[in-house]
Amino acid sequence: SSTFYVVATPIGNLLDLSQRAIEVLRQVDLIACEDTRHTGRLLSAYNIKNKTLSLHDHNERQRQDYIAELLQQGKSIALVSDAGTPLISDPGFHVVRHLREQNLTVVPVPGACAAIAALSVAGLPTDRFAFEGFLPSKSGARQAKLSELASEPRTMVFYDAPRRAIDTVQDINDVLGGNRQIVIARELTKTFETIHADSAENILAWLDGDPNQLKGEMVLIIEGAHIDPNDIPEVAIKTLKLLLSEMK
Ligand code: SAM
Repeated sequence: SSTFYVVATPIGNLLDLSQRAIEVLRQVDLIACEDTRHTGRLLSAYNIKNKTLSLHDHNERQRQDYIAELLQQGKSIALVSDAGTPLISDPGFHVVRHLREQNLTVVPVPGACAAIAALSVAGLPTDRFAFEGFLPSKSGARQAKLSELASEPRTMVFYDAPRRAIDTVQDINDVLGGNRQIVIARELTKTFETIHADSAENILAWLDGDPNQLKGEMVLIIEGAHIDPNDIPEVAIKTLKLLLSEMK
């Protein structure tokens, strides 16, 4: 019967494509992909010959009716993104919502996801975590986002561009303090895979001293805030100080 498969693809190492993913990509009538040329390379590596259709942030809403129609005609479709799991900081959300609203069958074919891969080796608590996607690229907005998260107790997972890493870690230093633990997971599953954990302060020095760390792709993980229930909140201290000054 007609199914819309959401298929995870490798995040670097081509072998990280499941047997089931290969089978589904072979058998569907059409593969909707973020970038047909990029996916074309993956398909040819596996000798999969199938039709592709581009589906990215800019045409997703236009294509959703067409995709629903094909499914209603009994066709099966797979969705892939350039790397990892579709919808995770990648296109697909609008289509999946649209298809589910029409009670069409949407099925996951799970596999690689950079955030989860990074978390699985970071050595920071994983019982609860917050996926925050990409941090803003401008420093002001990034600092505002970080201060919003300053008392977040869960481990926080971000996608970031390594060329911005020094600026980002500098902002973490300034907003969350130099003692906050950070893990940088760069080029996962690829030749120059690096997983490095240290305090924000030490990570900054490490990045400054090694320009190679500013290449490729990376996941940044920040340890959650340790909140001491006996700590008096900052606003309370400010209010008390103000009251004290009024009493003089
Ligand atoms: N959907 C993808 C997933 O499931 O991981 C993420 C897509 S998002 C547009 C791309 C970002 O994922 C990159 O900027 C980087 O932060 C992260 N990423 C992807 N592949 C990676 C890898 N091999 N190593 C480290 N980070 C990676």
